[in-house]
Amino acid sequence: MSIEWSDVLVDVLNTTPVVDGANTDLLETDADARDWLRAHAGDGTHIATARRVRDDLQQVVRGHADAEVLNRYLARVRRVPRVHDDGLDWELVAADWPAQLVLAWGEVQSIAPGRLRPCANGECHLFLLDRSRGGTGRWCSMSECGNRMKARRHYSRTAGKAD
Ligand SMILES: [Zn+2]
Repeated sequence: MSIEWSDVLVDVLNTTPVVDGANTDLLETDADARDWLRAHAGDGTHIATARRVRDDLQQVVRGHADAEVLNRYLARVRRVPRVHDDGLDWELVAADWPAQLVLAWGEVQSIAPGRLRPCANGECHLFLLDRSRGGTGRWCSMSECGNRMKARRHYSRTAGKAD
């Protein structure tokens, strides 16, 4: 089974949704966090570190912290060269769950800079990895925030005309 770490990255960024106007945290209790981590390629341990890397990644993606804060999660990452008939590959031999997320963030930054970003709805705490061709995606989801924000703009336009 191959894990798409960029998907896990988006999922962990989106563990603090606003539900009915209230901030929530899917990793709030240890029991919830353990289940969530196990469902997302973790082993359900090191819950405090999982919350910390989530918080740091959110701050970095929102532009509220420098990416350097993420280096602390990479201290124990190790790659070793492996030769084979076609040449040489670097294989990741030691990277824990937080490190995998930070590596995924770095890869997204390299391949698709700026594509991982907060939802443009200021009242929404979710993030999106914009995979659209033009890179113009603004909402965590069109069915949720996209339509809501469009309806609001339409409403304020028509309300403006009535004056
Ligand atoms: Zn949203």
